[in-house]
Amino acid sequence: MVLKIVKYPDAILRKKGQPVEKISKDVFKLVDDMIETMITEEGLALAANQVGSLYRIFVINATPREDTPKPVVFMNPEILNQEGTAVEEEGCLSFPGLYLRIKRADKIRVRAKNLYNENLIYETDGILARAIQHETDHLNGILFIDHVDKTEEEVKKYLDNLHPSKINK
Ligand SMILES: [Zn+2]
Repeated sequence: MVLKIVKYPDAILRKKGQPVEKISKDVFKLVDDMIETMITEEGLALAANQVGSLYRIFVINATPREDTPKPVVFMNPEILNQEGTAVEEEGCLSFPGLYLRIKRADKIRVRAKNLYNENLIYETDGILARAIQHETDHLNGILFIDHVDKTEEEVKKYLDNLHPSKINK
């Protein structure tokens, strides 16, 4: 089932997710729906609070440059190491049309649970490392606009447009 994507400034995007303690049927269903939603919306990744759930779960397409998506689920993710820095453009399904250049670590090591309750360690760089940092932020209520100066013209214009009443004053 394709879920509705929560858009900024919905309050759930500012909430911290709760760890998954038990991989219940509901968790399976949520992950399944998140993957379907991510693929339908052509997102690189998607965090649970972006579809209205407060579990510490995100999904990512590990093959963004190929025709066939390879979805991977990260539950209770924890970034163990970060190395280097890179500045690249990022988007977010909760901010349609907004793209910002964000500074992040270039290389990371992350530990996360999969649906079989196994703890796995991933080492990655480039676009996937960026996506994992972006999604881990989501699970902590942190958004990509928090990484840039909000008075920056482009961001200001975007946020002002979400509150048209303010512009008219
Ligand atoms: Zn996002």
